[in-house]
Amino acid sequence: MPDSFTKVAARIDGATVEIVVADITTLAVDAIVNAANRALQGGGGVDGAIHRAAGPELLAACRDLGGCETGSAKMTPGFNLPAKHVIHAVGPEWSGGGEDEDVLLASCYRAAMALGRDEALSSLAFPAISTGVYGFPADRAARIAVGTIAAELSADPGTLERVVFCCFSRDSAVHHETALQESGVV
Ligand code: ADP
Repeated sequence: MPDSFTKVAARIDGATVEIVVADITTLAVDAIVNAANRALQGGGGVDGAIHRAAGPELLAACRDLGGCETGSAKMTPGFNLPAKHVIHAVGPEWSGGGEDEDVLLASCYRAAMALGRDEALSSLAFPAISTGVYGFPADRAARIAVGTIAAELSADPGTLERVVFCCFSRDSAVHHETALQESGVV
């Protein structure tokens, strides 16, 4: 991972929004969000990394959840992770933009935020959901992610004080930074 990206931070209605380049499994926040699939049985990409770092108890906990619909999210403990919880959010697979992908992506960010508020969490970290194996265009996904989180925080931050966009590449971080600028927040 390049270290040339300087962390970007902005304030939205009392909460801090950060863009960092990092491995999400290293973040000691109340919950990290997993870009999961509907089966919640683990997978590649960030899902695989989270399961490896959390240990086998995470898979056992996921089995009890009975899957998760696209656009929704469910929560487990973080087990061996530095994060206390994992919110498993299921983003859409990109299939050209005509299958409600934008709506479903926004929906899974909202669902994760709602869980965070319901569980009275103060800090959440998101990966760039759907932009890996699921093929969602990274700039478009970043605009949806940033716009949805900004709207959620403006409407009702609840207990949330800190939301981190945890990007895995400098390019991804730049997409999020551009989206923050376009949204007028910074
Ligand atoms: P999806 O199936 O939702 O596309 P992926 O895991 O393939 O999920 O990719 C989602 C995003 O997570 C991609 O931008 C990928 O680069 C990023 N990613 C992969 N591993 C990590 C990690 N350890 N920490 C943070 N982000 C990661």
